[in-house]
Amino acid sequence: MKVLVVGAGISGIRTAQLLEQAGIEVAVFEARDRVGGRLETINLPEGYVEAGGEWIDSDQQRAISLLTEFGLEPEGHEQFPGRVLYQGEEAVEDHVWPDAEADARAIHHEATELCHQISPEPWLQDHLADLDKRTLASWFDHLCISPRGRWWVEAVTRSDEGEDSSAVGLLGWLVGYKHYLERTSGEMSAFRFPGGAQSLVARMSETLQGDIFFDHILHSVEQNEESVQIWCKGEMAFGDRVVITLPPPVLRKIEFPFDFPDEKLKAWETIGSARAIKVTLRFKRRFWLDEKWQGRMLSNLPFQQIWDSGREGAACLSAYICGQAAVNIARQRDPVAGVLRAVSEVAPLAQEEFVEGWLHDWIHDPYSLGAFTSLTPGSVRDALPHLATPVGRIHFAGEYASSWQGFVEGALESAERVVEEVLESGR
Ligand SMILES: Cc1cc2nc3c(=O)[nH]c(=O)nc-3n(C[C@H](O)[C@H](O)[C@H](O)COP(=O)(O)OP(=O)(O)OC[C@H]3O[C@@H](n4cnc5c(N)ncnc54)[C@H](O)[C@@H]3O)c2cc1C
Repeated sequence: MKVLVVGAGISGIRTAQLLEQAGIEVAVFEARDRVGGRLETINLPEGYVEAGGEWIDSDQQRAISLLTEFGLEPEGHEQFPGRVLYQGEEAVEDHVWPDAEADARAIHHEATELCHQISPEPWLQDHLADLDKRTLASWFDHLCISPRGRWWVEAVTRSDEGEDSSAVGLLGWLVGYKHYLERTSGEMSAFRFPGGAQSLVARMSETLQGDIFFDHILHSVEQNEESVQIWCKGEMAFGDRVVITLPPPVLRKIEFPFDFPDEKLKAWETIGSARAIKVTLRFKRRFWLDEKWQGRMLSNLPFQQIWDSGREGAACLSAYICGQAAVNIARQRDPVAGVLRAVSEVAPLAQEEFVEGWLHDWIHDPYSLGAFTSLTPGSVRDALPHLATPVGRIHFAGEYASSWQGFVEGALESAERVVEEVLESGR
């Protein structure tokens, strides 16, 4: 059996690895000139910084065992709790203002109650249909009492979701929250990839026997009873099966010139992709440590959230900006200067110590068209049941087609699932 894998992100490379371990011949096709996809490490003379995925949570066992496979230890971080700044007032992340804590508690309480009603297949629960149509923002508006509390719950959720709550469906958010409640360890964002996330994917790809064809942009897929054919820039490749690992906004652009299931097309249309960007600022030194500050902050300033992102000797602060603000900043003529100005309001030495900066615009990146999966209203019923299902010889993997949507862990889970699917199919 020969399997074509499209996409050399972590899900594609893991799929190829596991297929080869099962004795299957594999060829990988990738649009970019590198592996890693949304895991992209920027190497600097003094260290490195992550432009895309960066954190592994302590219960993301697949990601942690993958590091162990390569003799690596997950790297801890010491930035929590960070500073919180709202309208010029300052608090600490694990102990914000009493009104904000009260609103956050009310949200947690109500969400926990609702989560008890959600089964593993919430799309079958007709009585939850209204929750699926509703936005998370309208529910927050209903439950929060103080404007500061409303801002705080938005800031925390936006950071996890990569989106404004007005673009997120309540039921979809609750499905993710349920997952979070089921965690035995409450710790989030606990570790980073030592040496860089992209270099892990590069090391995985070096174990492959089959070729990776870079600069191969998939645009069309055909199949018949015997085989599947893919077209990349006028070149055609044949296989017994294909595993496509592209994110949904990119999938929508691929041609499937045969009778393709409507529910699958609707699922790709419905599911959202978070509008998230990173703006990285590189400095001469970690001047924030002199101010007894670890570099982490959530604020109502335009950068929303920053953290000390440079590894090894790199002195960098990365702003992680989500939702409409991300679109607005990405549109500016000089987004780096805008973010630097905002950071200087809270860290006055920033201007003086600044060396250079970069925008990592995942919203307009043609091979991601968004940062990671975000469940828009309607996604639970119209998208979730159809995302992972194969269509004949065409199989689907990627973070979106998993139970850990948005995470590296999901990309790895989808690889394991799709490999089982292909092996069970026989040929
Ligand atoms: C800013 C940001 C922050 C994030 N933070 C975290 C985090 O802290 N923790 C976490 O777990 N996850 C995080 N993520 C998400 C994580 O990076 C992704 O879930 C994961 O990398 C997705 O892997 P994938 O293989 O499913 O998709 P991708 O990495 O997108 O792989 C798909 C591949 O397909 C290629 N491709 C696209 N179109 C075509 C085409 N037409 N033809 C051929 N190839 C094509 C792409 O170039 C890419 O290499 C973050 C992502 C971003 C952008």
